[in-house]
Parts: sequence; C-alpha cells; structure tokens
Amino acid sequence: LYGMGRKNSAGMDLTDPDVVGPLIPAMKAAVDDVEWVAAPLIGGKLYRDGAMIPVTNPAHRDHVVGHAVYAGADHVKRAFETARNGFAVWSATPTRDRAACLDRLADLMQDYAIPLMGLCVREAGKTMDDAVAELREAIDFCRYYAMRGRIDFVDHGHVMPGPTGENNVLNLHGRGTFVCISPWNFPLAIFMGQVSAALMAGNAVIAKPAEQTPLIASLAAKLIHMAGVPHDAFTLLPGDGHVGAALVAHPDVAGVAFTGSTEVARIINRTLAAKDGPIVPLIAETGGQNAMIVDSSALPEQVVDDAMISAFGSAGQRCSALRVLCLQDDVADKIITMLRGAMEQIRIGDPMDIRTDIGPVIDDEARQILVKHRAAIEGFGKIVASAPLPMGAEKQGTFFAPVACEIKSISDLKREVFGPVLHIIRYKASERDAILKAVNDTGYGLTFGIHSRIQSTIHDLADGAHAGNVYVNRTMIGAVVGVQPFGGHGLSGTGPKAGGPYYLPRFATEKVISVNT
Ligand code: GLU
Repeated sequence: LYGMGRKNSAGMDLTDPDVVGPLIPAMKAAVDDVEWVAAPLIGGKLYRDGAMIPVTNPAHRDHVVGHAVYAGADHVKRAFETARNGFAVWSATPTRDRAACLDRLADLMQDYAIPLMGLCVREAGKTMDDAVAELREAIDFCRYYAMRGRIDFVDHGHVMPGPTGENNVLNLHGRGTFVCISPWNFPLAIFMGQVSAALMAGNAVIAKPAEQTPLIASLAAKLIHMAGVPHDAFTLLPGDGHVGAALVAHPDVAGVAFTGSTEVARIINRTLAAKDGPIVPLIAETGGQNAMIVDSSALPEQVVDDAMISAFGSAGQRCSALRVLCLQDDVADKIITMLRGAMEQIRIGDPMDIRTDIGPVIDDEARQILVKHRAAIEGFGKIVASAPLPMGAEKQGTFFAPVACEIKSISDLKREVFGPVLHIIRYKASERDAILKAVNDTGYGLTFGIHSRIQSTIHDLADGAHAGNVYVNRTMIGAVVGVQPFGGHGLSGTGPKAGGPYYLPRFATEKVISVNT
C-alpha cells in the first residue's frame, strides 16, 4: 500500500573496481576545478555582493573548496516578500504538478551525482560510502514525498460519509512560508528531505543550510529550480545562526523544520512562542543518547560489527549513532577484547580514498569538544580501546581517533557527545530493567538497539524503550526512506518521522468543506 510499487534508488556498488576506478577522478574534477560560491538566492537572483567566507575541506584545512556569502537583514526581508508571491503561485499549482517537480528533482540529482557526491566528500568530509548513501537518501526523499503527496493532497474522501444530502471533503493545503534549517551532517539528504516535504505540501520555502556546508546546498538549490519549482517559491539563504534566528523571528513564518541540537530547537521554540500572531508549528529532529543493550545470548561477532558501524560510522556524527553500549557482565570482557582488535584495524584518512573507513569530524570546534570529553572521561571512567590516527593527520585536517571507554552509569554523560566516542557500561542480568530505566531517564528518545536471541527479552526491551527507532540484532543507523521512518521524541524532537507516511501532513493545514446538496 505505502510503496505503491515505488522502489528506492539503487545507489552504486563501490566494491566494483570498474565503478570506483573512474568515479574518484571524476568527483575530484567535478569539484576541484570549479569556483563554488554559495550566495543568497532570492527570486532566482544570486546576491553575490558581500564578504566571501571560505568554506574549507575538513580533511585538508588549507584546501578552500569554495566561498559563501552570508545573507543579511535585507536578504531576509526580501526573501519573505518574494516567498509571499511564491506561495500564491505554488499553492495554486495542482498536486500532481508539484509531485512531478519532485520526481524531476530526483532525476536531476541522479544526473548530477558526481558533483553532489564530490561536494559531500570535499565539503562535509563524508566517506565515499556515505556520499553514495547520502545521494540515495536525498533522491528517495523526493520520490517518497511525491508519492505520498499524490495520496494525501487530493480530495479522496479522508472522511466518513455524512447524512444523505451532504457532501464532506477534507483537503490539505500549504501553510505559507516554511523555514527549513538543516544540519551539516546530512548536507544533502536532510536539506532535501525538509525542503521536498515542505514544497510537496504546497509551501513556499526559505532554506538556511548549515554554515559548514552551504556549497552543496547551493548546487541543490539550482536543481530545485531546474526541476520546475518557481523561483519565488524556493529561496536559499546561506549563513550562520544569526540568519536562522532572523528567519525564525520574522512575523511571516508559517512553520519551521529544524534538524540540529536540542538547545537550538529550544531557542527556536521559544522564539516562535514569544511572537504575536499565529501559533507557528515547529518540526524538530534533534539529538540522542542512544543505547544498545546486549545480553549474554547475543552473537559477539555481530555485536562488535554492529556496534562499530553504529558508533563510529560517519565519524559518529549522526544523531542516530550508538553512544552507550550496555554489555551483560558475563560477555563484556570478550566483546571488549574483540572490539579493541577491530578498532585497531580502522583506517582513518582522506575520505576521497576508497580505503578510508572514517574521515574527519566537521570542524575544529567539534574536535575540541571531543578532545575535552576524552580528557574528562579519565574523571569518571577509563579508555579501553582506540583507533590509530595516521601521522600528521591531526595537523592536516580535523581528525579525531575513535575511542571506546568504560563508564559506570549513563547519568555520568550530561549531554550528547557528537562524534566517534563509544561509552560502555557493564550490567548484571538482574540489573537489566534498571539499565533500561536509566536509558529512558536521559529524556532522549531517538534510537535504541537490542542484541539478544531471547524473544521475551527482545519484546520487553523493545516495548519498554522510549525511542522512535528500535533496532534488533543489527546496526542502529542508516534508516531507509519509507522503510524505517526516522525520528524521535522527548529531547530528541517533536516526533514526525522523516520518510514516513505521517510526515507531510505536519507541513500542511487541513480544511473540511461540508456542502448541503
Ligand atoms: N537518518 C539518519 C540515520 O538513520 C540520521 C539522521 C541524523 O543524524 O540527523 O542514521
């Protein structure tokens, strides 16, 4: 029913040398030979007048990938004026035409795969595997929301029949101007996910990409217009948090989609609540303190594989990433020993190299936070394993070697640590429910992992976990559009799941028309 015959995109097989051989030079040429500039794009016009702020490659800090011109107050004002016109045009565009634009956008992203993936690597420090996955997800979001839009945004009687002589219809409509504020960790997929949902629902969109990754957003913006979205209905405003704050505070905002930290989501929520005028909805996807509970029936090899991918994949810079691995005491030593061996094999390096497992973290600020956390661990735990950092890597880029440490209690972790740090807690079988309670008591509710072969354990933990996405006997990252709708609650967000059937209506208003015939 939900797929309606639709399939997610196929991606690329990076184990095939015939695919990889030509891919890397092509990606380098597509990115390194271009002067990338991300500038405010309003009504189809680029505003390049302003300071050119360098955007650097996290793997080679002295490699400038391109430049960004940040939006100022004038751009914000103009953007909302333009969006008002864009909304009038776009919301009157039939659902099928809006959906067709998103399908075209998906096709265009496929055509532009090389520069898009190249920018994921150069600007965001993504590995090749992650760049392939990122592009797939962005494409899948567009096609999925187009498909859902065709179901949700037509008059097909979402309501029960009324009395004879009465005709009732429920319709969904765009709300107005939606502000989409996206993160650097999925600079294409989450950017496109937010924007395509807001557009599908009939909104005009003003998008503010993360300050670390404006270049890929500017290429994506070009494709959005090429796909047929009217110039006035989509605006891109590069900038830092000041631009985001100005957008959220504007009286014309009809809705905000935000992915980022819990702290910033709170600030946005307060700003929206303090304004006079309409009550403005916030769709927020924030952080996690994600745990995996492993009992003594689990397969140790599989636990180690899945924990490594979940904790250290994408350099731990996913909100879904595993942060706390809870090991039943009778298997803990064995698993930690195997983990130590596996971590020694991790290859850290330039993400443009196909052999690299883990690239850099996004910037020096992120690295400093991790370095401080690693030092602080000595106060409440001990480091039990780490991955080797190649000589000179730390000088060249913002690399941070993955570490695993044992701690006593999840409550020692005061906040989410966004990077490749795995915390391990040992528990006795009799303490399992207390461990689950401690995880729930963090107040986050994003992902949760279980490794067990005992059905009742799986059932009890899956049932009792306060989490939006529960993963059993597998990794706990990489939710697939339409297959694992993704998002959490509590400190982890406001709930609607990206890539799920209930997402689009959150971007819309509902209207019922009852006609006495
Ligand atoms: N959807 C991603 C995953 O399942 C995480 C998104 C995020 O980090 O914001 O891994």
